[in-house]
Amino acid sequence: MTVFFVSDLHLKPERPDLTRAFSRLINTTFQNASELFLLGDIFEAWIGDDTPTPTLEPVFEALKQLSDKGCKIYFQHGNRDFLVGQQFAQSINATLLPEELTVELPVGKAVISHGDQLCTDDAEYMQFRTMVRNPQWQAEFLGKPLQERLAIARQLRDASKERTAEKSEYITDVNPDAVAELFKTSGVSLMIHGHTHRPCIHQHEIENKSVTRIVLGDWDTLGWYLKIDDHGYDLINFPIESYA
Ligand code: MN
Repeated sequence: MTVFFVSDLHLKPERPDLTRAFSRLINTTFQNASELFLLGDIFEAWIGDDTPTPTLEPVFEALKQLSDKGCKIYFQHGNRDFLVGQQFAQSINATLLPEELTVELPVGKAVISHGDQLCTDDAEYMQFRTMVRNPQWQAEFLGKPLQERLAIARQLRDASKERTAEKSEYITDVNPDAVAELFKTSGVSLMIHGHTHRPCIHQHEIENKSVTRIVLGDWDTLGWYLKIDDHGYDLINFPIESYA
């Protein structure tokens, strides 16, 4: 049994190389996967399942074919693609997951999340998150015409970029207390998340227990994925060029 995790690909029309690399990765390396977890920010922007996204079609097709072969695909929302909905999930045969979840893996139980909710030092972002994760806000947004949604999304993104540039390193990383709390409430010794773009395998001591936190990497000149099988886990990177 082999399980793969990816996050933070930030697929967008301006980077066809990333879309090609992800399609190839699915069609080669992931072909014998039993499960594929998409842990958020797979897409740079998502303003509704009804929005045409022609440049992403090869990825959708590859994911659909993978699920047709029997691989289970799971999708957790990121802070960019939190509006991915049931209609899209069904089109690629994926299951939408809640923002934090304990899953059974070949190496034991793990708690998985995108990870943005762990960045509690960023009060401004947490406030924004509360707004956009509100079902009523989402329903109102999705009810607007496409052009209006595009304009709002652009405004939100520009404002977020400006603010992030001013923030120090620690503010945009996960908060240690939030991490400890999630380990405690989930009761597991493995956590997997993305979001911070700081790929690493951390060992922590939490209440005299050794625990492991795997942070997935974002895709730019390198692509990243996590492979877990009966032998253990492996956080792998590769040059995007080599797949594009
Ligand atoms: Mn993110």
